[in-house]
Amino acid sequence: MNPPSPRTSQSGKPHPVRAGSLFVVAAPSGAGKTSLVRALLDREPRMQLSVSFTTRAPRPGEIEGRDYFFVDRAGFEQRREDGEFLEWAEVHGNLYATSRRWIEERMAAGVDIVLEIDWQGAVQVQRLYPDAVGIFVAPPSIQALHERLVGRGQDSVEVIAQRVSAAEAELKQAHRFQYVIINQDFTRALGELLTIVEAARLRFAQQKARHAETFDALGIRG
Ligand code: GDP
Ligand code: ADP
Ligand code: 5GP
Repeated sequence: MNPPSPRTSQSGKPHPVRAGSLFVVAAPSGAGKTSLVRALLDREPRMQLSVSFTTRAPRPGEIEGRDYFFVDRAGFEQRREDGEFLEWAEVHGNLYATSRRWIEERMAAGVDIVLEIDWQGAVQVQRLYPDAVGIFVAPPSIQALHERLVGRGQDSVEVIAQRVSAAEAELKQAHRFQYVIINQDFTRALGELLTIVEAARLRFAQQKARHAETFDALGIRG
């Protein structure tokens, strides 16, 4: 029997090294990123969403461990000191962070991961993982953003005003992202998001990891 090739594990299955893609979706509050990412995950059940830590109070209907891990400020700061976070940022007066361990484990397992984080966090992640795919979701207008936040019915008038005003500064950060989706027509925006995901999976390194045997047979190296 031949010894396993360096790209093959003991079980004979290819190592999923670098097979996964890391998607970072950022948007001003109300642009529709949560709706788009939920719809993406419905279509792509093998993609996994990172659940962030936050000091924000839960909204009606939000579930601990599904939407966020809700922690108080002291608990957040302790975790931050213990090095548990891959990135963190203060957004609209609340603290948000991504779990380092979860991301590292999922990356090692080669699965596709989605982060729904603000632009400051996205910049930190892009620095750590230069192959991460940055996607900025913009609203069609500030007025539409305002109407959507009112229509969502989950934030007070003051919080909505604060988020709309923050949006104007956040939109100035869109140039940091590789892709921009303008979420006017939801179906079209979802189609665009799926196209980005498809293109990311077709990158050389991802294809090589997924189709190692075919690459070998074809003599494709690199
Ligand atoms: P939303 O904007 O309506 O979804 O309101 P949220 O209060 O849920 O989120 C507020 C902001 O915090 C958004 O920009 C999120 O993308 C961002 N955010 C959520 N989780 C994280 C995180 O783990 N890290 C960072 N940096 N930002 C986060
Ligand atoms: P975010 O996560 O960016 O804050 P949400 O996904 O919660 O945004 O969307 C904000 C509100 O706008 C929700 O009530 C959602 O149903 C609505 N919405 C999202 N996309 C669209 C769209 N293309 N057209 C109209 N309303 C939308
Ligand atoms: P919300 O509290 O409305 O769910 O989110 C508020 C903001 O925090 C949103 O802009 C959201 O994208 C951002 N956010 C959510 N999770 C993370 C995260 O893990 N990291 C960073 N940097 N931002 C996040």
